Amino acid sequence: MSEEDIDGFAPGARPICVFCNAPWTDDMITVYDIDASHGPGSYDVGPENQQATVDITCSTCKRLIYRKEYGSW
Ligand SMILES: [Zn+2]
Repeated sequence: MSEEDIDGFAPGARPICVFCNAPWTDDMITVYDIDASHGPGSYDVGPENQQATVDITCSTCKRLIYRKEYGSW
């Protein structure tokens, strides 16, 4: 199994930054993947802190690409 299979992206099919077109780094994809596959239950937050935000910021241009807010759905 290749690294591309682990990431869930075929070679050349990684998401790119909408601002600078830089391919997402492994760290960025990891954050996104955790968010998509596990949801808020996987985050270690107390009952009084149900709201959390996951941000993915481009490693090249530092802009915010993706934000997921928990507790709003
Ligand atoms: Zn960028």
